[in-house]
Amino acid sequence: MRDKYQVVIGLEVHAQMLTKSKAYSSDVNEFGAMPNTNVSVITLGHPGTLPVMNKKTIEYAIKLGLACNCHIAENQYFARKNYFYPDLPKGYQITQDKTPICTGGHIEIKDENGTARNIGITRIHMEEDAGKSIHDVDVYDTLVDLNRAGVPLLEIVSEPDLRSSAEAYNYLVEVRKLLRYLEICDGNMEEGSMRCDANISVMLKDASEFGTKVEVKNMNSIRNVQRAIEFEIGRQIEVLETGGKLTQETRSFDALKGITISMRSKEAANDYRYFPEPDLQPISVTEKQIEAIKAEMPALPKELFEKYTKELSLSEYDAYNLTDQKYIALYFEELISSITNYKAAANLMMGEVKSYLNQNGLEITDFPLKPAQLSELIKLIDAGKISTSVANQRIFPEMVSNPAENPLAIATRLNLIQESDEGSLKAYIEQVISQNPTEVERYRGGEKQLVGFFMGQLMKVSQGKADPKQANQLMRNLLEEA
Ligand code: ADP
Ligand code: MG
Repeated sequence: MRDKYQVVIGLEVHAQMLTKSKAYSSDVNEFGAMPNTNVSVITLGHPGTLPVMNKKTIEYAIKLGLACNCHIAENQYFARKNYFYPDLPKGYQITQDKTPICTGGHIEIKDENGTARNIGITRIHMEEDAGKSIHDVDVYDTLVDLNRAGVPLLEIVSEPDLRSSAEAYNYLVEVRKLLRYLEICDGNMEEGSMRCDANISVMLKDASEFGTKVEVKNMNSIRNVQRAIEFEIGRQIEVLETGGKLTQETRSFDALKGITISMRSKEAANDYRYFPEPDLQPISVTEKQIEAIKAEMPALPKELFEKYTKELSLSEYDAYNLTDQKYIALYFEELISSITNYKAAANLMMGEVKSYLNQNGLEITDFPLKPAQLSELIKLIDAGKISTSVANQRIFPEMVSNPAENPLAIATRLNLIQESDEGSLKAYIEQVISQNPTEVERYRGGEKQLVGFFMGQLMKVSQGKADPKQANQLMRNLLEEA
C-alpha cells in the first residue's frame, strides 16, 4: 500500500544563536539560568523601550547562508509578527518576513542508497524566541519564564525536497553539523536550542500535485523527528486509503506513545498582521562585509570530507567519522600536518583516541596528548621501529598516562623497539623452528600457508618486537633450510 505513495517532506529548523546577549537587548542569553533573571524592560516589552540590534546575529546568519550557498540579501528590514500569548510580553515577535537575509541555497545529504543529493533551502531568516510556558511544575497554574524571550533565532526553511524519514534524519544531522562547525548554535535538541517542525504530505506516485501537508511539532531529538514522520506517513496513507480527506493542520508528537495528536487546524490559524518594525533600522549588507565574514569561516565538513576521500585516499567511512565533529577534524588536520601515513592516523583517531575519550567521558579538546605527540608515534611505525599493534596497545596507553614522555623514550624503556637486524631475528626464528617440529614437517610437506602460524609464534617469542617485513622472508628461507 505504501508503495503507491510518494512521501514529501519540508523541514523548518529553529536554531538559538550562541550570542552573549539577546537579539535586541543587552540581556544575557544563557540556558538554564534561574527563571526570569535575564529580563530587562526591553525583554518585558515595557512601553517606551526600544530594541537595539545585536550585530553578531547578522554575522552568524551570513555565515550559515554562505555555508549553504545562499544568496545574501543586500537590503533587509524587520517585521512585526503580532499574536497574543502569555510568554510573548510585547504582543509581537520581531522577525524577517518579506526580506529574509538568506535565500536559495542547498544542503547536501546522502539519500537511503548513500548517493549525494542537494536539498533546497528556501530561506534563512533572523528572529527572536518567545518565553517559555511551563505546565508541569505547578499543579494548578502555568508558570512563565521569560529568560528565553528575545533570544536570537535563525529559522532555516527547506524546500519540500525530502522524500523519506531517513532523508529528513540525514538532513537534520547535516544542519546540526554546520551549526556546530560554525559555532553559531550548540544544536542541542533535548534542551530546545535546536528545534524542528516537520511538514509532511503524501501523494499517489503519478500525481502531479503535492498532497495536503500536515505540520508536526514538539520532537526533542533527531530520532524523534524521524519517528514522528514515520507515524504521520502511516496515518495519512490510512486516512486516504479508507476514503478520508486530510486537512491542513498542526499536530504534536507524543514521544511516549509514538503518535501525533491534532493541535489546531489551518482554519484556526492566526493572522499575524505583519508590518515593518518601525523601531529598527533596515539592515544593509555590503559585498565587503560578506567577503570579510567568508575569510573567517572555518573549513566545513563537506570540504574536509572531499579532501580526506580524494586527496588522502581514506574511505568514505573514515572520512565521515573524522569530520563528524569539528574538533576531531581539527585535531586530525594538525596530526597529519607532519606525516603522510593518513590511514595510520585515521585508525589511531577512530580507534585508540576515540575509545580513550569514550571511556573517560572526555571531549577531544580535553585529550591529554597534542597532535604533534601522536604524530611522533606514527613516525616510529613508519620508520619500522615499532609495529602498529605495539604502538596502539603498549605505547599509546603509556603516553596518555604520562604525556611528558615521548614515544621513542617509552618504546626504549619498555624494550619494545622492533628488531630488524638479521642476527637477532635469526635467533628468534630458530627458536620458533625448534619449538614446532610438527608444523615444520607439514610446512615442508607443502602447507605453505603455515608461514602465518610461524609469524604468529615469532611475534610471541619476540614479544611483538620482530619487524614483520624483515622477518617474513628470513622465516621462509630458514624454514626451507630446516
Ligand atoms: P506555511 O506558510 O504553512 O508555513 P510554507 O509554504 O512556508 O507553509 O512551507 C513551510 C514548510 O512546508 C517548508 O519547509 C516547505 O518545504 C514545506 N512544504 C510546503 N508544502 C509541502 C507539502 N505539500 N508537503 C510537505 N511539505 C511541504
Ligand atoms: Mg510554517
